[in-house]
Amino acid sequence: MRFTFLAVALVSTSLLAQGPAQPDWAKLEEESMRHFQAIIKMDSTDPPGGEKPVVDYLKQVLEAEGIPVQIFALEAHRPNLVARFKGNGKKRPLLLMGHTDTVNVDPKKWTHPPFGAVRDGGWVYGRGTVDDKDNVIASLMTMLMLKRLNVPLDRDVIFLAEAGEEGTSRIGIQFMANQHFDAIDAEFCYAEGGSVARTGGAVKYARVQTVEKIPRAITVTARGIAGHGSVPLETNALAHLGEAVGAIAAWTPPQRINETTAAYFKRLASVSTPEEAARYRDVLSPDPKISGPADAYLRKNEPSHWSMLRTSLSPTMIGGGYRTNVIPSEGTANIDTRLAPDEDPMKFLELVKQVVNDPQVEVSYGARDTRPPTPTARLDSDAFRAIEANITKHYKAITLPTMSTGATDMAFLRQKGVQCYGIGPAADTEDGPKGFGAHSDQERILEGELFRFIRFNWDAVLDLARTR
Ligand SMILES: [Zn+2]
Repeated sequence: MRFTFLAVALVSTSLLAQGPAQPDWAKLEEESMRHFQAIIKMDSTDPPGGEKPVVDYLKQVLEAEGIPVQIFALEAHRPNLVARFKGNGKKRPLLLMGHTDTVNVDPKKWTHPPFGAVRDGGWVYGRGTVDDKDNVIASLMTMLMLKRLNVPLDRDVIFLAEAGEEGTSRIGIQFMANQHFDAIDAEFCYAEGGSVARTGGAVKYARVQTVEKIPRAITVTARGIAGHGSVPLETNALAHLGEAVGAIAAWTPPQRINETTAAYFKRLASVSTPEEAARYRDVLSPDPKISGPADAYLRKNEPSHWSMLRTSLSPTMIGGGYRTNVIPSEGTANIDTRLAPDEDPMKFLELVKQVVNDPQVEVSYGARDTRPPTPTARLDSDAFRAIEANITKHYKAITLPTMSTGATDMAFLRQKGVQCYGIGPAADTEDGPKGFGAHSDQERILEGELFRFIRFNWDAVLDLARTR
């Protein structure tokens, strides 16, 4: 009795001091690990996908707690799961999103089996451990705790476990956004796309994705007169193609800096060496005499930073000709184009044509299964504030709002007006080059960082959703 009384007294004190009771983290770590290992052991590589076993597992766990679940499937073996914990409706919902499929594996490259979920030396090994079953489990655990502690909320918290992120969004986020948006409509969304960087075991900074570039494909087609290879022609299509591709690759498209990238470089400067900091500040200068040298340095040494500053162009495929003694009449190249969010696509194409400057060469946009252009998630929103405050609390690190140079499923939600923020657990910067990152030959997560991410997730949800 006395013990119970003491426990109640402690809980009430903490309720008064800091809102709802905190979960029993030690117990939850064991439970989180059990669920995490269970879904890592399920092969949901995409293609072909086959996310159903993961979804069945999540459904059974959620329903056992009394949390209602809806299943939406365009293809029966590739379902999407939606669960909702209701608030009082004062504010619009918060959506937690994770994808249940993974990229493929080459089992020969794995020390531990890719679907073994083996725990070794503080790590968990397996496909999906950092992309994206970590987000799935963090969202799941947050839902379970909301229900168990019966936390009063000002807004609903919705969990979407989506299919097809790695292969085709047609059966996943596009299907949900276009045909079942009612089930996931929200003011804010937390999803994959962010990260916390650790170097030498110390956290350096956290990246929160607030906007992404828009993927397009440019096709370059050179045409000329066909002929015998023994007679060189100045109109040789492949020679013109080669020059055009070279000119495109050598070109520096004009900078387009947005709110996110400006904040990113300014904040990054504050945690960099003096030399690096000067470059990150210089590159934002409107004076090309100041920004030019910094920009050139980034191009050579920090290409992902250089890409964040502008629309980028990478030649990725080239083709033409069919035998050595024939000059072909045509050659084509594909240029992976990543538009800055505020770039006018047609005006940009005109610039590329000027760079090529060859009447024998046509430059046009090609077809691409792509993500839509999207607005930026705001940096002055309650959601960003909740994320930033909890990065400070859990990681004692600076938050860098980040524009992805790649594309994510958040694009489909942002297009619908949902403000989405990409978050993620901490990983060692040394781990990527060793071949353990997302989409890499092997994949692993630090157990302690999985647990820290779950606690961070819980607080970031609570701060945004609980009744004030
Ligand atoms: Zn992913």
